[in-house]
Amino acid sequence: MKKTVTVILAAAMILACLALASCGQTEEKVLNVYTNAGFPPYEYLDSNGKVVGVDIDVVNYIGEKLGYKVIISDIDFDAILNEVSKDKFAVGAAGMSKKPDRDEVALASDVYATSVQYIIAPTGTFEGEQVALADAIAYVAASGIKSIGVQAGTTGAYLVDDAVKDTEAKAIEYSNAIIASQDIGTTVAAVVIDKLPAEAISKDKDNLQCWPLDAEMESYVLYFNKDNAELVKQVNDILKQMIKDGLIDQYTVKHSS
Ligand code: GLN
Repeated sequence: MKKTVTVILAAAMILACLALASCGQTEEKVLNVYTNAGFPPYEYLDSNGKVVGVDIDVVNYIGEKLGYKVIISDIDFDAILNEVSKDKFAVGAAGMSKKPDRDEVALASDVYATSVQYIIAPTGTFEGEQVALADAIAYVAASGIKSIGVQAGTTGAYLVDDAVKDTEAKAIEYSNAIIASQDIGTTVAAVVIDKLPAEAISKDKDNLQCWPLDAEMESYVLYFNKDNAELVKQVNDILKQMIKDGLIDQYTVKHSS
């Protein structure tokens, strides 16, 4: 009798443990996505104020495949990697160019897109297809305004900071290129930002045009927490398939129209 009770108790305990374990497993996994929604078509606000874009479609697809609930936070671009470094299940998805100093604080995924820096200026400012960075800065320095707008913490900002050294031009930092472009002709003579955002920003504006700069090609990656190489591996497999299936191109077309 005593033995039976013990066996029943033990069985009950095992069942309780199993139930707890499975409860633990069904708990929702969360992927915290940090972005800056002033960078169309990669991330921008739709007419309802919702963050949408290529990067958002990409992380939602990844979340769905890997069983994560995706939570999007719209923060300053230059605060993204700090957030990522604090949370094992965080990712920066913001058209982020791969850079050695960023690689020191976060883990880069495979490359999912490429870009180059563009300059947005009043229509007809430059002749020709491409503008030499030195010519762009010379134009800004010779203008009455003498300032050029950039987005804080971006590769465009670093490029311009370097180029204005020892010139009469100076860089003004904005939280994004959409806001910076509204100041063209008043506070800044031009704005430097990545290709597709530059095209999106100047597209429907008669008074603005954009040109590629003679700058190096940049590669966009998702930046993950340093302690989650396992997740990056899983994500890279999905990215590879997405690129092969033309999904990223599809998202880019969808958000550029
Ligand atoms: N690609 C640029 C960078 O990584 C700009 C990104 C952005 O402004 N969202 O710095």
